[in-house]
Amino acid sequence: MPSTLPASIFNDVLGPIMRGPSSSHSAASVRIARLARDLAGGHVDHALIEFDPNGSLATTHASQGSDLGLFAGLLGWEADDPRLPEGHKALVEQGVEVEIVVRAIGATHPNTYRLTVTNRELGATHVLEADSLGGGMIVVHRIDALDVELFGDQIAHVFGGADGALRVQIGKGVALERQGNELWERRLNRVLPVPTPSGLRLPFSSVAAMTAQADPTQRPLSAWALEYECARGGLDESEVLSQMSKIRDVMRGSIDAGLNGTDWGDRILGNQSAGFRSAWDQGQLLDGGMLNRMVLYVTALMEAKSAMEVIVAAPTAGSCGLFAGTCLAAADALSLDDGPTLRSMLSGGLIGVFVALRSSFAAEVGGCQAETGAGSAMAAATLVEMMGGNAAQSLSAASLALQNVLGLVCDPVANRVEAPCLGRNVSGASNALVSANMALAGYDALIPFDEVLDAHRQISQSMPRELRCTALGGLSITPTSKALEQRLCGGCDS
Ligand code: SF4
Repeated sequence: MPSTLPASIFNDVLGPIMRGPSSSHSAASVRIARLARDLAGGHVDHALIEFDPNGSLATTHASQGSDLGLFAGLLGWEADDPRLPEGHKALVEQGVEVEIVVRAIGATHPNTYRLTVTNRELGATHVLEADSLGGGMIVVHRIDALDVELFGDQIAHVFGGADGALRVQIGKGVALERQGNELWERRLNRVLPVPTPSGLRLPFSSVAAMTAQADPTQRPLSAWALEYECARGGLDESEVLSQMSKIRDVMRGSIDAGLNGTDWGDRILGNQSAGFRSAWDQGQLLDGGMLNRMVLYVTALMEAKSAMEVIVAAPTAGSCGLFAGTCLAAADALSLDDGPTLRSMLSGGLIGVFVALRSSFAAEVGGCQAETGAGSAMAAATLVEMMGGNAAQSLSAASLALQNVLGLVCDPVANRVEAPCLGRNVSGASNALVSANMALAGYDALIPFDEVLDAHRQISQSMPRELRCTALGGLSITPTSKALEQRLCGGCDS
């Protein structure tokens, strides 16, 4: 289940920067289709897209943004391109033919994409098969008849022979030489922001290994987060902090966009953040301290996401409001400077790395405990550090927060990433706040975070498919949900 590519804070957890409802649908699909386009030689005349009926995508590819992302990727666009909603129209205008088919392709992962792309000028047709691993991460596991393992973190060169044989060389600057009867070469460009340096050595890959290096009561978690991401990406501290600043600025822009009011046709909920702010301003709400600001920011950000504004998937698009809204509301309420804000948010990023290394962010794999559960644990650790807490307290807060939501299922209403997603992001903020305060007050989380993640993974494995983002169970199949779905799709057969 976990990716074999070592997780990175900016590849896996605080990113991608994107538009669309779901990172495992709309952002991952952009990356997969861009690689398929590169494989076709930089232009696609015809694309056959196949989804397995036993996976999640068979029932969600249209409504949760996979098609949107695939169209953009086939055009060579990025995941945050403002033209994203116009992708299908652009394909038609350029004469690109796209067929989408649901049929058995022997997929063993719930999020498998098979793309067969044709470039008529080159007389080339190739097949690329890839899985979306959650949070926008991907693995390409097949090119034509060749088994591969490409994560998009490095440039890959594919060489093809007259007999159909393929060879792949990975890495920037590798000596490229044609061999034997090889006729063609394609360059598959990097689609992840953080490259994997050659000879990568991670400083640690579990909480236990990390805390064996130094006393966690004597340093903040962000010290380890900086050390990890510097090693993971071959970066220095200023580069990591600069990227964190860029991510924070995008998050801040998304909140502002939501607070300014959003509109989008294919949407269930209206502008609830405006109503919340008005009720708050007029003293009609219970006194929640900084929690009411968190609710406002989380809601605004989720509304921006549902209106196709640019967001940061952190760790996923479905849970994008939780971490950003909670942390930036706390930073505002505490009047924190940039330095402590950015470092504290990095500590939440490291919690996400541990989730990615040991379990998964993908709702298709582990339900909503994978998305908002991870986001809540990340936010709890960050809040602790914002209050001056140490790494032991941040880890304790993350453990408590995740324990509180183990088993949370994914059952989107009307097959849209809006409800119960909004409520789960908001309650995740509340869970993060109380878990941080419990940890700061010395409550004993009892179960170390590594072990909570093992339970998280084991629960994911025993969760029925109907409750893992297939819209086949739970709230998704209530009469009201079905009626909303019919209304949104104009009476289609969904
Ligand atoms: S219910 Fe949770 S996991 Fe499912 S789409 Fe909504 S936020 Fe994501």
